[in-house]
Amino acid sequence: MFDPLAWIPEQLDLLQAMERRRAIHVRSTAQGATVSWKETKLINFGSNDYLDLAADARLGDAAREAITAEGWGSGASPLITGRGNDQARLEAELAQFEGTQASLVFSSGFAANAGTIDALTDRGDVILSDEKNHASIIDGTRLSKATVRVYPHRDVDYLENLLKQCGTFRRRLIVTDTLFSMDGTIAPLPELVDLAEQYDAMLMVDEAHATGVFGEQGHGLCEHFGIEDRVPVRVGTFSKALGGHGGFVVGSQTLIDYLVNRSRPYIFSTAAPAANAAAMLAALQIVQKEPQRRQTLMASAKFLRDALRKQGWGLGDCRSQIIPVIVGTEALAMQLSAKLFDRGMLVPGIRPPSVADGECLLRISLSSGHTRQHLDTLVEALEELRF
Ligand code: PMP
Repeated sequence: MFDPLAWIPEQLDLLQAMERRRAIHVRSTAQGATVSWKETKLINFGSNDYLDLAADARLGDAAREAITAEGWGSGASPLITGRGNDQARLEAELAQFEGTQASLVFSSGFAANAGTIDALTDRGDVILSDEKNHASIIDGTRLSKATVRVYPHRDVDYLENLLKQCGTFRRRLIVTDTLFSMDGTIAPLPELVDLAEQYDAMLMVDEAHATGVFGEQGHGLCEHFGIEDRVPVRVGTFSKALGGHGGFVVGSQTLIDYLVNRSRPYIFSTAAPAANAAAMLAALQIVQKEPQRRQTLMASAKFLRDALRKQGWGLGDCRSQIIPVIVGTEALAMQLSAKLFDRGMLVPGIRPPSVADGECLLRISLSSGHTRQHLDTLVEALEELRF
């Protein structure tokens, strides 16, 4: 009998032969600075739970209360009946936290990025995108009918040249991660703001890995650089430092009204459960009341970066809690990851398509829950494994 999916095993075998076939892992304890992988207890350098909130009891309590009051499912998209009091309150408090007129919550950060880019641009427009932008931004540019120009990582001169050639397009959109998810590098935001204003372009930034971590108040890198008011479209996620789920856009009421009417993942996707909104409201409170979490995280990141640079590892221009140990080949990255695993540490090896060929790395991501002893254990192991 004809099997219409008969071509798939061959594709999987190909990935297997290239040692690129992925397996889905199962964590057997709560997320945190240490986790168990089946029976093995590991120090966890492989989560985006930067402020150690994913398993915080206060988030769980808030969620439980919301479930008791409202049940679990939202039952519809937000424009129909899916948006209840908790979801509305989260949007109001998020806008207040970020100092914007309004905010809009999406069911994921991926949807927020892709759905915003697609809504803001169309045929006749041009999107200028950093080559290392997250997949959700890339897919947003693919969804859009606009022309796409990719500029080399953080290369503002190249971008300016592109902008000079883009005057005939109806509208221009510059889009960038603020903190790049694999390299831990930071976008040249002050320069990007200047260029956007000079060349009459919209600027959209993705603060996914910076929200809750950077800035005096934890708003992200726009706050850190003092340019919050000059960035008209800011995306973030609840799924990293805030320890939950979902994505958001903050900006003017006009922007949010437009996205409500035009962003397809917002319009056509079921609203996230009230319990998630309640937990994220609790997380926003904690981010504001416990700045020591991001201070601890930053101090740990500096300690580890300094120690690893002293050992001679290449960390690129990383300046954050995401610390890439750049080793080059896939085999080396995966071997090192396995050796660290044997020593009781979970440090994922990152390979294509997450990074370019030949730029494979170990991605160490830190949490405020890591102790000095956790960091010392990693430093000692990497000293031993140095080549
Ligand atoms: N932007 C960046 C930079 C990311 O790294 C991610 C997720 N890893 C996303 C957006 C998507 O966010 P979410 O996981 O909430 O869909």
